[in-house]
Amino acid sequence: MSEGVLVIFDQNQGQVRHVVPEILSVARELDQGTVTALTFGTGASETLDTLGEYGADQVLFWEQEPFTRYSSDGFADAIAALVPQIDPSVILFPASAWGKDLSPRVAELLGAGLATDCLTLRTDTSHHVIATRPVYAGKALAEVAVETPIQIFSVRPNINKAIPDPKKPKVLDWPPHIADNSFRAVVVERREVQSGVKELTEADIIVSGGRGLKAPENFKLLDQLAEVLGAAVGSSRPVADDGWVPHSYHIGQTGKVVSPTVYFAVGISGAIQHLAGISGSKYIVAINNDPEAPIFKVANYGVVGDLFQVIPLLTEEVRKIKAIS
Ligand SMILES: Cc1cc2nc3c(=O)[nH]c(=O)nc-3n(C[C@H](O)[C@H](O)[C@H](O)COP(=O)(O)OP(=O)(O)OC[C@H]3O[C@@H](n4cnc5c(N)ncnc54)[C@H](O)[C@@H]3O)c2cc1C
Repeated sequence: MSEGVLVIFDQNQGQVRHVVPEILSVARELDQGTVTALTFGTGASETLDTLGEYGADQVLFWEQEPFTRYSSDGFADAIAALVPQIDPSVILFPASAWGKDLSPRVAELLGAGLATDCLTLRTDTSHHVIATRPVYAGKALAEVAVETPIQIFSVRPNINKAIPDPKKPKVLDWPPHIADNSFRAVVVERREVQSGVKELTEADIIVSGGRGLKAPENFKLLDQLAEVLGAAVGSSRPVADDGWVPHSYHIGQTGKVVSPTVYFAVGISGAIQHLAGISGSKYIVAINNDPEAPIFKVANYGVVGDLFQVIPLLTEEVRKIKAIS
């Protein structure tokens, strides 16, 4: 009978996202047997210490060509060929752009069911894994089980706690099976966002702006607030569509799904498509001059006022507090 959890994730030169320790902690909590971690590309083996710290029992690194450049088809084929060797009952991916691309392809090749963007996972008394995931654009939460022998889940970042459980993982030296012509499309270039810009899906605080900012140059107000708070800057969709900010800022149903501790919605009305991307936020702070704006229905704290007055004052106050502490 299949047993154990296989955690599959991406890394960059030995650096892993926050979500990796979080998923390893989830994998251990499921109590489904051996936890195996698989990652790819240059620097993959440098993640060994982190994987050991968060309780991986065994690890597998495919650092060699052609795994140095991401290929949806190539990676999916190689993973599907590996799975029978490990024979896990559960496979976990991060619900990052990478995991969202790869997990359905692997599920299809394995004939396995997939539940995406899960907030939490638990094992019930019958040893089934039950996932909680948002539905109806985040308006409700559903508990789902996957009823195929292999159950695949992608897990949203910033929701689960990373709990250390130091171990010395066994390093498996299993070469990948690379099917002929499976690396049909590969990533040929990778451009890093400018240094100092925080990744939205990993950020603890996000300052996000919408059409209420009136013009692209006014985003500098949010940059200043974000700088003193150590926050990332995001946006609603129309301002990204209009080119005020890069598309990587766009949050919502058709953009990034974020789960920070604090989300500042500045000059954002709170359309349902925007709320779909922020429902995982612990606290929402709305700043809007329309007291009837829908964002106030979901906000924990609200300021009814002109953002052009409120944001500079808030930035100044945070700066003073930081200077004292
Ligand atoms: C299929 C589909 C998918 C979509 N996906 C997304 C998505 O992923 N993400 C997304 O964001 N949207 C998405 N949208 C668009 C969405 O419906 C809204 O149109 C959009 O979120 C509104 O953006 P906004 O809040 O910036 O602008 P607006 O709705 O125009 O709101 C601007 C707000 O600023 C306030 N304001 C104005 N001046 C000031 C001031 N001086 N001080 C303070 N407040 C001020 C106003 O009161 C208003 O509430 C989608 C739409 C469709 C149809």
